[in-house]
Amino acid sequence: MNLEVKKQILEKIKEYDRIMIFRHIRNDGDCVGATKGLKRILQLSFPEKEIYLIDQDTAQYLEFMGPEDAPVADELYTDALGIVVDTASEARISNKNYKLCKELIKIDHHIPLETYGDLQWVEEDRAAACEMIVDFYNTFRDELKIDSEAATHLYTGLVTDSGRFKYDGVSGDTLRNAAILLDVGVDTQLLYARLYLEAFEYLKFKAYIYEKMQITENGVAYIYVDKAMQEKFNLTLEQASACVGTLDSIRGSICWMVFIDNNDAEGSIRVRLRSRFVHVNSIAEKYRGGGHACACGATVYGEDEMRSLLQDADALVKEYKETHEDWL
Ligand code: AMP
Repeated sequence: MNLEVKKQILEKIKEYDRIMIFRHIRNDGDCVGATKGLKRILQLSFPEKEIYLIDQDTAQYLEFMGPEDAPVADELYTDALGIVVDTASEARISNKNYKLCKELIKIDHHIPLETYGDLQWVEEDRAAACEMIVDFYNTFRDELKIDSEAATHLYTGLVTDSGRFKYDGVSGDTLRNAAILLDVGVDTQLLYARLYLEAFEYLKFKAYIYEKMQITENGVAYIYVDKAMQEKFNLTLEQASACVGTLDSIRGSICWMVFIDNNDAEGSIRVRLRSRFVHVNSIAEKYRGGGHACACGATVYGEDEMRSLLQDADALVKEYKETHEDWL
């Protein structure tokens, strides 16, 4: 699939001596895995090229994946090829120096909010951007090299973005691509331990969420992790945001979300929306966000707007339930 654009991307990679790889802000396992996996594949395959991955933001739960590169002078960008992975819009590219690159390629699996770059390879149906990187490797496996370090990065993104191969986007291709990585060598037990073991105190926070969670008339489950709750459990914003999965298994609830007080002067509240069956990205887009059909993010300002988003979600779910069967 999309062989022509993949060939063009490989040609561009061959053309340049220096390649800068970019990902989105608020990094997750997929954008980190895809960029680190791609970097490693390119380093192994083209040892003479300079390849950089430079961002300032990090996530504590992904520290085991290792650091990125130290910042370099702006001049180094100007004759480089930029490859932006897993990022739907320019505003979400983490390292703003992407603008300095001579040419820019976008590789993404989000619903496209806008077109940017000189070359785009976008496949919305992919479970993870990492799957596209594995596919790229596999398409040109006679020319490209992979090792267990790259495979582990890519497998991390596959596992995290697909909810351990549970979400809707998982296809036969996802598993075939995962199989390629396992054949190369991934210590899955170590990886799962690193990703999913939780601190004793964090489980107490989760217990509190179960106590305090709310549900709208038509089954939108939600929790507002306000400043007081963050202080009570001594949570970083990252830890406060990580609890969205806690609400994912309530029968009758096909949409759930977490609101996280960003504690900034503007009173912004991060929203993480999730759903099964019903597509909720239109709601995220209405409230300054976007993402995937069943996993997206938004920002609201103040509790009135939070209530308004909840009402919209509740109406959407109501309509879905009235017009569909088999949503349980
Ligand atoms: P999150 O809940 O932040 O993990 O977001 C879920 C998915 O939606 C991820 O793939 C994000 O990259 C994407 N996403 C989150 N916020 C936005 C936004 N404001 N615009 C576009 N995509 C977003």
